[in-house]
Amino acid sequence: MLAKRSLIMLSRQQQQRLPEVLDVMSPGPGLLDEKMLLLVLRAANWNPFLLCTSAQVCKRWADIMKRVVWKEFCLSRAPKMVGHLLSGGRDGTIPGGWEPLGKLMFYCSGCHASTHFISKTIPGHFVWKTRFSKTSGKWFLIPQCQADILYISKICEHLDNGDDDDLVLYRGIFSSFGTSRTRRVLMERGAKLEEDELCPFCRDKVWSMTNAKLVPASAVKRLVAYEDNVEYFVCVNGHLHGMASRISPSDSELSADE
Ligand SMILES: [Zn+2]
Ligand SMILES: [Zn+2]
Repeated sequence: MLAKRSLIMLSRQQQQRLPEVLDVMSPGPGLLDEKMLLLVLRAANWNPFLLCTSAQVCKRWADIMKRVVWKEFCLSRAPKMVGHLLSGGRDGTIPGGWEPLGKLMFYCSGCHASTHFISKTIPGHFVWKTRFSKTSGKWFLIPQCQADILYISKICEHLDNGDDDDLVLYRGIFSSFGTSRTRRVLMERGAKLEEDELCPFCRDKVWSMTNAKLVPASAVKRLVAYEDNVEYFVCVNGHLHGMASRISPSDSELSADE
């Protein structure tokens, strides 16, 4: 917080010069020492606001964030899931990197109108706490891909007080996506990477699961959504982000008796 407050007090010109100043001063003692920075961030329990602010201070701090801090953040927030992702990865690495995984944990990416899913735009927002479940992930896999491990977040509800549909957003990550059955089926079906959509977490290319006809009925049911209004994307690193129009309460009361 101190670093952020100090930055606010500086003029724009001074802020632009700050990285140069810090580079001249390094290597040095105090806060510029990597271990000291890590101790401060650990004491703040890897607060994601502080992490994002610190990453903007200078290139050196941004490098430390990428190399060490985001990994610590991920391990502190979801040790079980990260352990599983690591066991399926190569040489202790996470496909796409630690920073996108960290972002996945605290950021609902919002949505915008897409080719397959007409919707209003919802900006992304911070989520203080989210639970990821691989049991929930099974609902989003077609029968022949049930052996894959997919973690899905708790659904983020965006309710509309007007005439528009209520939207639900969700995100997730595959373990060992490179060798998953889902990826193999995408290849077998000749699925093409989307032209106008990128992964909000790693900014890499994505496939539309709707376009590839890989959205199972169980996902529609799980989301309590209209059948033609479920869309999710999976990027080349295995991150998933999706949206759906939720069935209005009057309709869902009818389906609840089934
Ligand atoms: Zn949300
Ligand atoms: Zn991604």
